[in-house]
Amino acid sequence: MKPLLQNLAEMTAHRDHLRLEVSVLSTLLKLGHVVQVRALELFEQDGAAMLRPRSWSQDGQIVSSEHDAAGDTQRQPLAREPELAQCIAAGGESAARSTPGRHTLWLPVWQAGRATTCLEITQPRAFKKHQHDVIKGVFLVYQNYQNLLDYSERDALTGLLNRKTFEEQFARQASANPGADDNADTPRQWLAAIDIDHFKGVNDRFGHLFGDEVLILVANLLRTQFKSQDRIFRFGGEEFVVLLRSITLPQTRQALERLRLAIQSHVFPQIGQVTVSIGFVALHAGSPVEILGRADQALYHAKESGRNRVCFYDDVMHSGALQVKVAHDEVELF
Ligand code: GH3
Ligand code: MG
Ligand code: MG
Repeated sequence: MKPLLQNLAEMTAHRDHLRLEVSVLSTLLKLGHVVQVRALELFEQDGAAMLRPRSWSQDGQIVSSEHDAAGDTQRQPLAREPELAQCIAAGGESAARSTPGRHTLWLPVWQAGRATTCLEITQPRAFKKHQHDVIKGVFLVYQNYQNLLDYSERDALTGLLNRKTFEEQFARQASANPGADDNADTPRQWLAAIDIDHFKGVNDRFGHLFGDEVLILVANLLRTQFKSQDRIFRFGGEEFVVLLRSITLPQTRQALERLRLAIQSHVFPQIGQVTVSIGFVALHAGSPVEILGRADQALYHAKESGRNRVCFYDDVMHSGALQVKVAHDEVELF
């Protein structure tokens, strides 16, 4: 068995949440009598607290299912683990259950007052104090490091993921994406660029602090509109990017339209109404620059054609509106 310190060093060598998670699970699995470890994702679904395994031990290895649905078949209401549910409701550090031959320890990971992940450790015999202390020590290193990673990945004002993180994650997600397929019923991944309309006017009329408040509220609306598998980024200024998980074209339109309406109908204190324009594009193979460029063109079209609109890049292309613009630019450039 490798010395614990070496395991800790390997654990913190990863600058990626999922790999860090896999690494802490494998460290815990190597501790004495542990037979099973899992990292549970905690999330809400239709107002109910749920959990599902995201990484777990299987034949001495750790496997993960961040993007596919393998862990999803095991999703269940958090209430089915009453000890854990109680611990989370109370903001507690750990929960345990002991039945003959099966002892389970749960360690929720707290980040900014929320538990979104929980480690679960199971073994046939009771946890002795020394083993418990070692597990706790490993867990604290893991949690602190996870928080540090999180901090460096996020935008300070809104708490959304930042642009640097986008560039890292985008490369990964795009490479997992199938090639071009224009069938509207094929689930695929999407990129939406979202820009607040006339935001400069908000700053000019109400001041920068109110502008910041709008950014925070829009970020919250984005968070409530999208699922946990979607990734939401603040791209800078009043511009946001969302990477949507595998859904069909009509579902994507519907989700973005719902977001547009949610923002349009939200009453912003003092300011009143704020709207956004959205351009989106399918994530087929292409460089980040190309794909972002297309989303931007669709967004530009949404702005040009009246704002407070959702535009799909392919529609705009087929309508010929963009070709005209490109030709026009070329005339200006050359
Ligand atoms: P459009 O509908 O065409 O998007 O118009 P707009 O006014 O939203 O766009 P423009 O790009 O002209 O202005 C964006 C403004 O966003 C300018 C800048 O002052 C403001 N802004 C950028 N970052 C921040 C920020 O962090 N906080 C605040 N309060 N304002 C910001
Ligand atoms: Mg704007
Ligand atoms: Mg802008």
